[in-house]
Amino acid sequence: QGNLSSEDDAMVARRYRLLGPAYRLMYENPLHLVRGEGVWLYDVNGRPYLDVYNNVTSLGHCHPRVVEAIREQVGILATNTRYLHSLILDYAERLLATFPSALGHVMFACTGSEANDLAYRIAKFHTGGTGVIVTDMSYHGISDTVSQFSPSLGKSVNLGVHVRTVPSPHAYHYPHCDIGAKFTADVKSAIDDLLRHGIKPAMLIVDSLFTSDGVLADPGGFLKGAVDAIRAAGGIFVADEVQPGFARTGDFMWGFQRHGVEPDMVTLGKPMGNGQPISATVIRPEILQEFGENARYFNTFGGNAVSCAAAFAVLQAIQDEKLQENARVVGAHMAEGLSKLKARHDIVGDVRGAGLIFGLEIVTDQTSAKAGREATTRVVNRMRDDGVLISVCGKGYNVLKIRPPLVFSRENADMFLAALDRALAAE
Ligand code: PMP
Repeated sequence: QGNLSSEDDAMVARRYRLLGPAYRLMYENPLHLVRGEGVWLYDVNGRPYLDVYNNVTSLGHCHPRVVEAIREQVGILATNTRYLHSLILDYAERLLATFPSALGHVMFACTGSEANDLAYRIAKFHTGGTGVIVTDMSYHGISDTVSQFSPSLGKSVNLGVHVRTVPSPHAYHYPHCDIGAKFTADVKSAIDDLLRHGIKPAMLIVDSLFTSDGVLADPGGFLKGAVDAIRAAGGIFVADEVQPGFARTGDFMWGFQRHGVEPDMVTLGKPMGNGQPISATVIRPEILQEFGENARYFNTFGGNAVSCAAAFAVLQAIQDEKLQENARVVGAHMAEGLSKLKARHDIVGDVRGAGLIFGLEIVTDQTSAKAGREATTRVVNRMRDDGVLISVCGKGYNVLKIRPPLVFSRENADMFLAALDRALAAE
């Protein structure tokens, strides 16, 4: 580790002794956080950090409306879906109203992994197939089943024999190329390969913003051909909205909307409860019908009253506080600032994103466009030491992942841009 205090050094050792070797800490100098408020996190010494890597407490830390909703409900009743309760229904109604009307049912769980696991079970039941197609740096979750179609986990998992990966639809890496046509052709060859091996396709599942692949948003519409292809092969299309969902992309509530497609299922998680564990699988009724009649689905904590209260408050706050609009407006301001940084720093190869999520591809220089992995790590750690939190994604671990809370202001954006300018200048 870097220059940690002796107390934090001892804590790192204690953590390893108690929790074992599978956990990872972010940053060379890990953060010991004790409090959060809005866009700020505070460490044990009271030092503030600007949180620009925020994908769970998406409304900002300790949003008062969500805190109050949790506090109130936990003092009244905390039970499960085996009893009648109006809150889960009121929330389901409000949530489903944000989707195309064809997506008429919602089932609740606690994590994104569980939501994707359920989507896969339903897809298998409905299609009679098992084949899964994902992009080659995607992440869909941690369960044994879902990790088998999460290639970003690397060597720690074996992709299933029923899984095929396709190259991420990467406009920067494939210039002069029709990205939609290429992605469609890649999905079609994956389908052909499954069929050649006697495996019937069940689903194409993508993070609609390709967040782990390096934040790939443009050109809008590029998913259309691939969605048609999987349906033509008897499979279904699942949009994983765990990262792009809940207004993050500014122009839309859901990431898939920028591609003009209507998924067969949509999975939700992370920001759904602003920190309270709640996730969901949104499904076309005709796809769920037979599975639902045969399965007995009970998820002890999924859809519990306290989580529903939190999720309801989140959705209300997004709508009442016009946070989608804020993501669009402040996002546009940030995009402009990031483009200026690209013009000033030769190691910034590409700036991309939508709303309040950006990927900045770091290269050795703009002409060779070779991945600058070490520089990326240095920039992230330098920013952390400067009091600004971001992280890394992408196949070459050379994309800065920038994802501020939806309540980010122009002033917060300017502060972030100044820190990034300093960190890039030090390269
Ligand atoms: N899908 C995507 C796109 C994700 O980013 C994640 C979490 N990083 C998951 C699924 C899994 O969610 P969880 O960690 O809540 O199981």
